[in-house]
Amino acid sequence: MSLKEYRHKRKFNYTSEPRGLGVSVSHRKPRFVVHEHHASHLHWDLRLEMPERIKGGRLVLKSWAVPKGVPTKEGVKHLAVNVEDHPVEYIDFKGIIPAGQYGAGKVLIWDKGTFKLLERKSKAIKVELFGKKLKGVYVLFNFRGKNWFLFKTQE
Ligand code: MN
Repeated sequence: MSLKEYRHKRKFNYTSEPRGLGVSVSHRKPRFVVHEHHASHLHWDLRLEMPERIKGGRLVLKSWAVPKGVPTKEGVKHLAVNVEDHPVEYIDFKGIIPAGQYGAGKVLIWDKGTFKLLERKSKAIKVELFGKKLKGVYVLFNFRGKNWFLFKTQE
């Protein structure tokens, strides 16, 4: 997924969300953020900084909307719906998306940190998160279409 879909959904004259100028792959630790998004339905968005494709491409935020939030207990599986890639600048975004705009509502940063990529396949991603709230190994497992399971595991 390129950033086309992200840009297509937004009117940058109206929302303060970043357009995303693109950042090349660097060697610092990859980062993650969990946004708490008070849209029409409250949900959390997990975003992992990684190349847009398994074999490279520019850095983006691979993103999943998690209706129940990221589980903090081991073995609790939550649905995570893959949504469009977001530009890496979005990692610092917080604020209000104006009424009438895509995703309208308040966006807060619920947690943020770095992660270690342990595995990345088309249908399975394993990361170790080093956040303030989220710490430990998490698995994202694609089971149908855009639907993934997100759970914390021992390793
Ligand atoms: Mn959202």
